[in-house]
Amino acid sequence: TWEEVPLAPPDSIFKLTAAYKADSFPQKINLGVGAYRDDDSKPWVLPVVKKATELLLTDPDIDHEYLPITGLPQFTSAAAKLILGRDSPAILEDRVVSVQTISGTGANHLGALFLSRYYRFGEGGKKVWLSDPTWVNHFAIFRNVQIEPVTYPYYDPATIGLAFEPFLETLRSAAPRSVFLLHACAHNPTGVDPTREQWGQICDIILEKGHYAFFDCAYQGFASGDLDNDAWAVREFVKRGVPLLVCQSFAKNAGLYGERVGAMHVVAPTEEAADRVKSQLSVLQRSEISNPPAHGARLVSLILNEPVLFAQWKEDIKTMAHRIIEMRKELHKLLTEELKTPGNWDHIVNQIGMFSFTGISTEASQALTEKAHIYLTTNGRISMAGLNRKNIRYFAENLDKVVRG
Ligand code: PMP
Repeated sequence: TWEEVPLAPPDSIFKLTAAYKADSFPQKINLGVGAYRDDDSKPWVLPVVKKATELLLTDPDIDHEYLPITGLPQFTSAAAKLILGRDSPAILEDRVVSVQTISGTGANHLGALFLSRYYRFGEGGKKVWLSDPTWVNHFAIFRNVQIEPVTYPYYDPATIGLAFEPFLETLRSAAPRSVFLLHACAHNPTGVDPTREQWGQICDIILEKGHYAFFDCAYQGFASGDLDNDAWAVREFVKRGVPLLVCQSFAKNAGLYGERVGAMHVVAPTEEAADRVKSQLSVLQRSEISNPPAHGARLVSLILNEPVLFAQWKEDIKTMAHRIIEMRKELHKLLTEELKTPGNWDHIVNQIGMFSFTGISTEASQALTEKAHIYLTTNGRISMAGLNRKNIRYFAENLDKVVRG
């Protein structure tokens, strides 16, 4: 058996991490992985997560029974308020369907599966429009449910910024009722987000053409350090009546990568439609995972629902976001003022979130890895979280070298 199974290539990011681990060079740096690291390059357990864990450990009512199919209700309702806002018209009108998922990946999968089964795709066919570039897993997730991924222009290498006009042009020329996947904030991998004004124009066309907005929100809090600020685009689209769903992950903003805690929220036009949607999502979820895991959802539920913990969480998010912003400023300063590296490096401070698209070539990216033991994806994307006060100078000096060639 299995003679016909071809060998698949290893996942590029996980491969990068393995190569980094195997490297014995003392000054090696891993800028590939999308996980927060503290100033000592160590994973960071958020202080609020430690507190919530203690509370759970001493809670006599905790058992290990199954959760409901759609997840822990206190978690899903608080998660909906976090992304949509407490005063969201959709929440007040009881037309939000929230399902707990296997982190953001599971949310994307469930959203894609639901659309594949029940969305009335327009004349363009069963397609999803993804930004070029995007998180690579988006392609596989949609293909897995027989939705063909196609791409819209998003990133302009010439400006290392948003390809705004070509993006709008694709929104205009796509068949009515097309599905557009939008990164809610802190776009992965570019770190380039539309401004509020630009979001407004994107929203105008989506409404005009009757498109569907598939929001992916994996970094709420990471873009600006402020949870509400980072949810602005999603809330604006809801306010303006765009049909949409939102995928939500707590991997990054709560540092709960391995706990797989997330949610998928469908904003339906009416409460009655929401009931029907919820019934079908329950059927899908039942056949796939029966019910989601409890521990991470209990932690996040405590954090979202206990005011003291919620306040502490906001501080913890600021700690992470601000450290990353500091690293951006420091890297910019080293390159422009000290090393006088050729080129314009303003995008380093203008981009937001965990990642930065440096704009360096594939060859330069490879040279960083081969000559300086600095691990990054060959598209020149660096995880800002991998930089800290101890290694930033080594990185800047080597970036300077490869840019000079
Ligand atoms: N969407 C985007 C854009 C991401 O960058 C990620 C994480 N890399 C995810 C979704 C999903 O992450 P997770 O499943 O760990 O929540």
